[in-house]
Amino acid sequence: MIGLIAVTAAGRRAADRLAAAWPARTAVYEGPAAEAVGRAFAECEQLVCFLAAGATVRLVAPLLADKATDPGVVCVDEGLHFAVPLLGGHGGGANALAEQLSEVLGTRPVVTTATDATSIPGLDTLDLPVEGEVAAVSRAILDGSPVRLEADRPHPLPALPSWVDAHAPADAPVLRISDLVRPDGGTTATLRPASLVVGVGASRGVTAEEVLDLVAEALAEAGLSPASVALLSTVDAKADEEGIVQAARQLGVPVTTHTAEALATVPVPNPSAAPLAAVGTPSVAEAAALAAAPGGTLIVPKRKSRPEGRPAMCTVAVARRAVRGRLALVGLGPGARDLLTPRARTELRRASVVVGLDQYLDQIRDLLRPGTRIEESGLGAEEERARTAVRLAREGLAVALVGSGDAGVYAMASPALAEAGDDIDVVGVPGVTAALAAAALLGAPLGHDHVSISLSDLHTPWEVIERRVRAAAEADLVVTFYNPRSRGRDWQLPKALDILAARRTPQTPVGVAHGVSRPDQWHTVTTLAELDVTTVDMTTVVTVGNTATRRVAGRMVTPRGYRWQR
Ligand code: SAH
Repeated sequence: MIGLIAVTAAGRRAADRLAAAWPARTAVYEGPAAEAVGRAFAECEQLVCFLAAGATVRLVAPLLADKATDPGVVCVDEGLHFAVPLLGGHGGGANALAEQLSEVLGTRPVVTTATDATSIPGLDTLDLPVEGEVAAVSRAILDGSPVRLEADRPHPLPALPSWVDAHAPADAPVLRISDLVRPDGGTTATLRPASLVVGVGASRGVTAEEVLDLVAEALAEAGLSPASVALLSTVDAKADEEGIVQAARQLGVPVTTHTAEALATVPVPNPSAAPLAAVGTPSVAEAAALAAAPGGTLIVPKRKSRPEGRPAMCTVAVARRAVRGRLALVGLGPGARDLLTPRARTELRRASVVVGLDQYLDQIRDLLRPGTRIEESGLGAEEERARTAVRLAREGLAVALVGSGDAGVYAMASPALAEAGDDIDVVGVPGVTAALAAAALLGAPLGHDHVSISLSDLHTPWEVIERRVRAAAEADLVVTFYNPRSRGRDWQLPKALDILAARRTPQTPVGVAHGVSRPDQWHTVTTLAELDVTTVDMTTVVTVGNTATRRVAGRMVTPRGYRWQR
């Protein structure tokens, strides 16, 4: 819950606005400021104080207990100019809250947390548990002094600055990425990847304590960190086994289950007769660990609990997951910065490698984190680019493959996914494709059924393209032509327009949109009879209306087809 504290009329108006926008997430605290802040501090995860920063500091200071548990506090001035995260910028979510409420209130977030302000990823923002000397290592990273990176294996982290690397001097602070517990010499912060899967077999009635003890023992003996356990895995028949469910809850991880038939097919070092008789697979712990870690390896073979004075009821085994990289397919939109989605921006900053055509990379270079590796190439070489992106993701990196408009529309997503296996995570970020950006300029040409057709016959035989244009003519679809015309390909557009003209009147509206949202943008609404194809080039889309499309006040309008409209 977000507690909203206001004492003046202006503050209360602002608080009410936020409460109206986020009714389920907020509670307004009224009354004298000190008392309201006290109650909200105790009851809420986050506070927004519509007070001066000084007043907020004085009210909150006596209540502070611990960075890990104190709520995030954002202070908003009554004039609604600024939103200042005062406490809990990362952990308390105050930086993010200041950004979000600024969208509602029109304030400007004033973020002073060093890692955010300098665009270096904070060690506590990487979605991985972090332990050890976090503050000292963060400080060194911020100061630009060398930090030695010791990663057991690649991990899909965002770009780290160049001074964080494997070759830093031996006495430099250390950033370790590892699931292994090691005695730390010197200043070390350790990020714990979610790399371990614990397979659990159990008899009916096993206690959570017996499971947890055995898990802890298995991890400790192998020198593995419990913070790296990603999940518990078992056989379907044990999905409701209370001891396992409770143990998982205490470890803060989910439980996955597998059918006995599936587990029976997993080769394991230590099969046995008992589980075969009980649940129909010669192995539960080892097989379930491996089944939930495809491509991974068994690092702790099956071991049994040894409770005093009664038979063992639990077995566990531990597998390490294969390295799993991340491939984001990111559409950058038609060109203008404000048509790049916030999610695309986040993904660009999430990546450590960005792959794409040089002209698209120019569009977003300034958004990348310092230290981001750039793999750019010129026109053509699409498959090469796709293959590079997938290869880097397979190596375990966080890769963003970028393209203009939407990355899946006549673009890189399909060649990339044709190459990619299920050994990498894939994240798609939709972008504003040229047809939509153009439509917004032209009016409402896509108000009814529509289709996009690329006129590029470099990779598609012209017969196929022509058949599709005929079908669109036949079906009376609005058609947007991508790749309509270039110096070497000048007869295709007139030919396609002729095919449509056979089924539409010469007055059918046609929209031409060039360089949409770029500095050289222009557009025009004309007709099939009057279109001058020589104005069309490769940074243009051409949208041809259907038989109902009209020109209204110079705009192209395709009726939605509701009866009441006409
Ligand atoms: N993935 C892109 C399309 C790539 S195909 C997208 O979703 O938009 C390239 C064609 O897209 C160009 O030949 C042109 O027809 C069209 N195009 C791309 N950006 C454009 C823009 N800003 N204005 C007009 N047309 C554009």
